[in-house]
Amino acid sequence: MTAAAAAVPWAGCLPGPGREAAEIVDAACVRSWLGMVAARLEAERDFLTQLDAAIGDADHGVNMHRGFTAVLARVGAIAEATPGQLLKTAGRTFISTVGGAAGPLYGTAFLQAGEALGDVASFGPRRLLDALRAALEGVQRVGAAAVGDKTMVDALSPALAAFELELRMGGSLETATCGAREAAAEGMRATIPLQARKGRASYLGPRSVGHQDPGATSTALMFAALEQAVLADRSQRFAGGARRRGSGT
Ligand SMILES: [Mg+2]
Repeated sequence: MTAAAAAVPWAGCLPGPGREAAEIVDAACVRSWLGMVAARLEAERDFLTQLDAAIGDADHGVNMHRGFTAVLARVGAIAEATPGQLLKTAGRTFISTVGGAAGPLYGTAFLQAGEALGDVASFGPRRLLDALRAALEGVQRVGAAAVGDKTMVDALSPALAAFELELRMGGSLETATCGAREAAAEGMRATIPLQARKGRASYLGPRSVGHQDPGATSTALMFAALEQAVLADRSQRFAGGARRRGSGT
């Protein structure tokens, strides 16, 4: 267990409604998540660009928004796809439409997560944990960043640790995504006092201190959207009765 995972407050998390109903993530939920990420990126585009203007080249908001607009268009054009195929399509689209560091980093994260999901039609939190771990490994392979370097890893790594911790404690998909969202936001805020050691911000040396990292911010936003998508999916399932049973893994 990491210090970041141990610091996550669990009391604010919603209780799970029962494991069977809670552990189903399917292609519809993944599509919903991608749509929610795109909406949040649109809403936060100028904020992300302001953050990047302070310690980078002021393109993060525009890049992420352009990339996710392309992802939604590409994914929307596919009628039938597994969750893994959707994420791999998102990754390839991101790499081909987004320049700078964000394209290869996020593109690889999505590709690796999609690979980890294989070709299952739906999955539960344990397989989601595998996908998150594969995403982090992909990002670290491409970016060679560690926790504390003031990058997206500072949000992704604690989010993954919190997600795993919550599952190990017997939590549900809902409480695990809640914990991941909180840990990502905490990791994002913790980048403010750090001096950047990777990426363009590292050229500023000590002048990078005092600014929140744009990449950690967009990563935290994706975890907020993940919790939102999981909760919306649960509400829909409860409202309409169980869509299916026993297909979670
Ligand atoms: Mg930039």
